[in-house]
Amino acid sequence: MLGYASTKVLWEIAPKGGRVMHVEQDRPVGLLTLTAVTPKEEVVLRDLGTASVFGQILRYQGRGSISPNAPLSERMWLRFSYGFGKKLTLLATTEEDEKAVRQIRDAIYFGGGGLIFTIYSVRDGKSSVDFAIAQCKVCDKPVISLVECEWLYCDACAAKCEHRYERGPIHGGGVDLGMGEFCGICGRGKPKPEGEPERPLYDHHIAAEEELGVQVIYENLPGITPRMLKGFVEGTAKKVLVVEDDQYWSGIIRRGLKGKVLVAQAFTTEEAEAVFQESPDLAVILMDACVPGDDPNTMWLVRKMRETFTGPIIAISSNSDYRKELIQAGCDHEAEKTEAAQKVLELVGVS
Ligand SMILES: [Zn+2]
Ligand SMILES: [Zn+2]
Repeated sequence: MLGYASTKVLWEIAPKGGRVMHVEQDRPVGLLTLTAVTPKEEVVLRDLGTASVFGQILRYQGRGSISPNAPLSERMWLRFSYGFGKKLTLLATTEEDEKAVRQIRDAIYFGGGGLIFTIYSVRDGKSSVDFAIAQCKVCDKPVISLVECEWLYCDACAAKCEHRYERGPIHGGGVDLGMGEFCGICGRGKPKPEGEPERPLYDHHIAAEEELGVQVIYENLPGITPRMLKGFVEGTAKKVLVVEDDQYWSGIIRRGLKGKVLVAQAFTTEEAEAVFQESPDLAVILMDACVPGDDPNTMWLVRKMRETFTGPIIAISSNSDYRKELIQAGCDHEAEKTEAAQKVLELVGVS
């Protein structure tokens, strides 16, 4: 489960308009502290101090990026309302800010829906305001981190908890969705055995798919499942060479393989030879007869491949006579082009 990287972080956040305000996060104390740096911020914080009373919630109004075109990952701001029509905006101006702003947003999502005003003070001549995000249900201490806010359980109380671990969906700590062991009382994750490496994200996703019956979809990788990703990253995905001069058919076959295998498309016999030479770990080869043209001209290539390749070679000419010739040359399977992809998936045992 997610916690802040360190217990105390100092960063700068500018209210919208580019002004810079110091925000300090002290997790053990459970407070976020905004300190004015510029005269304008002095005005904002003094006003906030006058308009707010202890325990008052500055309602979260939403977030956004600095301009409609800027990616959210670059700059994010959070807006809060207080008093009558008054708003406070925290704007991230650096990458560090961005992290902090996201942490505040996540904590607020699970907390009480805003920043809880606790105190206005003047420190070293500068206006300063302290906020909490939620409160520990055991000891009432204010809390500001995601895991504390989600479980309403402060770190100090969690340290004293007699954990009862259970298995269920987890998030946080860089994992958006996964399965793991966590305490059903305080929400803290079960410590990993010493030296056990972090599991890759796709393993978490595969576990979530299996145990929760959900389907994980990657926005930036359309059509790719966590299982495929694991195969690609860990090099266990099967490799398939499609020798087919017709772009249309080659494309149909590639799409038919649905990203479940790695596909190399060769549109000439030269390309096919080159790929074949560079890929000693091919699982299946699909072979058209006329590459290119209308006369069968790939039998020599099949014979040559057969000198070293022992895996399946599928004859995929649409002409059944040519398929026979290909089989005589060394192909051991045949399929219509429309059936070729399915045949490959059967042969490699991926469904
Ligand atoms: Zn507590
Ligand atoms: Zn616990």
